[in-house]
Amino acid sequence: MTLKERYEGVINYFKTNVPTAETELNYSNPFELIVAVILSAQCTDKRINQVTPKLFRDYPTPESLAAASSDTIFKYIRSVSYPNNKAKHLVNMANMLLKDFNGEIPSEIDELVKLPGVGRKTANVVASVIYDKPAMAVDTHVFRVSNRLGLTKAKTPLQSEQQLIKYIPEQHVATAHHWLILHGRYTCLARSPKCDVCPLTEWCRFFKTNKINKNAPHSLSNKNQIMAKTENSKPKVVIKKASASKETKNKISPVAKKNVEKKVATKKAEAINTINEKTKFIAHSTTLKVGNKAPAFSAKDQHGKTISLADFKGKNIVLYFYPKDSTPGCTMEACSLRDEYNYLNKKNFAVLGVSADDEKMHKKFADKYELPFSLLADTEMKIIKSYDVWGTKQFMGKIYDGIIRTTFIINEKGIISHVITDVKTKEHGKQILDLM
Ligand code: SF4
Repeated sequence: MTLKERYEGVINYFKTNVPTAETELNYSNPFELIVAVILSAQCTDKRINQVTPKLFRDYPTPESLAAASSDTIFKYIRSVSYPNNKAKHLVNMANMLLKDFNGEIPSEIDELVKLPGVGRKTANVVASVIYDKPAMAVDTHVFRVSNRLGLTKAKTPLQSEQQLIKYIPEQHVATAHHWLILHGRYTCLARSPKCDVCPLTEWCRFFKTNKINKNAPHSLSNKNQIMAKTENSKPKVVIKKASASKETKNKISPVAKKNVEKKVATKKAEAINTINEKTKFIAHSTTLKVGNKAPAFSAKDQHGKTISLADFKGKNIVLYFYPKDSTPGCTMEACSLRDEYNYLNKKNFAVLGVSADDEKMHKKFADKYELPFSLLADTEMKIIKSYDVWGTKQFMGKIYDGIIRTTFIINEKGIISHVITDVKTKEHGKQILDLM
């Protein structure tokens, strides 16, 4: 198998089965993400998600964090690894953000790595998650999994990053980082990879190599064999005979054997279920189709004004549904539509955003980002349900119900002319204009 075929096989598998892999760290804006990623070095995401809610509640901005002392921050993060250093890094990072970057998280790797506590891996995570850059953050999982699969032959994380970037198509680099992490976290475990339930065996160099060795007389996986060195340093296999008495001692009754087999089967079924949940999840998608009459709606916007479908007779509408005000993806999407708003207007389009946030939250969001269009407060989720955009989805590795990001283009006659389910948040305005 060529390297190209191996990359194609692995990427195609993930593209089909894990289309929306994301970080498992909880955050709701770029500042929270960089804090969470700094904390996550040498620590589990689960642990970080336990400490960040209180930290974000009390120190929600660079200003508040910069004004804190590292001793105070230490108390919030004492249960994570290296809390002393990380507390200092966080306070210094917030200070540098204010002093050198106007309180904004920089988007360039070269600038990100200047921040205290931000190494190349953290910088790559931030650049790819927040700014959609084709940056590959190599952590222990990415390093191990890509070496085992045979995507890389690397001795250092930097080599791994360079090799992965070279072969993974640019548009998949950011997601590939999460694919490899999740695969390493749940299937290709460091000590005992779950090859028996792994869907990537076909392309995995480690699996193929070990499978060949398994049947060979010098298999390293055979516990009854150990390697020794001959005088001229060439490896030699020494066969250690199994002791009969040990075999007798380990004999188990047929009932016990059956129980063990049952337990193994249950464990395997659980492992497969976990993998199915993690890797074969398919998100809900609206049942409304192009050509359907757009369902009527009416709701108040951020100014308290009632907005109805009937108000837009003779106009085209971009009706976009988004999960939550002020979150990174929704901010990028709204800003992208804001930037193309004049152009859309000239083409006789109105833009309306819908989420379950209330009028007050919409106002804060719209004011902060100078959004020139209405955001409808669908707090009872009537519009969301009539457009069938509420359903099961996956985000940050978790599966739960929520608003599925979807945009409907409604023509002058009130008919749906486009349904966009693969919303590209950063360039959504352009994505819509390309359809015209
Ligand atoms: S086959 Fe085994 S070693 Fe290869 S990626 Fe899967 S779990 Fe990892």
